[in-house]
Amino acid sequence: MTIQEIQETAAGFTQQSELNQIKSLGIKTIFDPPILAAVSAHDSVFTQLQEPQIIGNHHQLPVGRLKDAATVISYFLPFSEDIRRPNRVPDLPAAAWLYGRIEGEELNRALAGHLVYVCREAGASADAPLLDPEIHMPEFTSRWSERHIAFAAGLGTFGLSRSLVTVRGCAGRYGSIVTSLNIPASHPRYEPFLSYCSICGRCSDRCPAGSITSGGKDVRVCAQYQDGIKKQFSPRYGCGKCQTAVPCEKALPAIIPNRTQ
Ligand code: SF4
Ligand code: SF4
Repeated sequence: MTIQEIQETAAGFTQQSELNQIKSLGIKTIFDPPILAAVSAHDSVFTQLQEPQIIGNHHQLPVGRLKDAATVISYFLPFSEDIRRPNRVPDLPAAAWLYGRIEGEELNRALAGHLVYVCREAGASADAPLLDPEIHMPEFTSRWSERHIAFAAGLGTFGLSRSLVTVRGCAGRYGSIVTSLNIPASHPRYEPFLSYCSICGRCSDRCPAGSITSGGKDVRVCAQYQDGIKKQFSPRYGCGKCQTAVPCEKALPAIIPNRTQ
């Protein structure tokens, strides 16, 4: 299989799934079709992610997830205009965003499961880390960071808000599949770390919690703010002000001073 064939399968699944709508809000599309990228499961980037200054050695290698891993396929599901537009106002998150964040995750999980099925139908083994209930750890960390995996696969680079900035923007959700299928690496990986970020500071201005500064994002301050949102809107939560009404919301920013490639 090629990455293009898998991308078409993923796009078809996303467009046809009943889970890609919020009937109670009249929203017919939570996510636009995903973009995908493939990277060798043996790329040195995965051991770099285990360095203490990046994530740490609790972060799993692809071969730690799947013994015969050959390729990691990462995908980005961009939120549709119907989810992003209402959240462009300041302060509290829009209902569409809260539903997109929580109900949308059901579609994300279903897509991951579908891609595992597709790989297995092709005679390969496959694993979707986001379906593993043990993947999340205390203290805002994970054994498999989907954003870092997307960076590793070349889907985008980080922004000041620590969202991943892709050609389809930063507002959306990520997932990945580890598989024994041999698929050539599909995207170059851009350096430095903030290549796609214009450092415009708009995400910092938008953050109601003050968690984004010129040094990046304080995840604890963000999480504390979102705890308050959860108390108010439980079972839903989210914020996404740093991902909406910003130049990187749905595309790369027009001016990218840091990009060297
Ligand atoms: S809003 Fe500006 S500074 Fe923040 S991540 Fe996007 S491009 Fe970078
Ligand atoms: S999600 Fe909200 S609180 Fe967290 S960094 Fe973004 S704007 Fe700030």
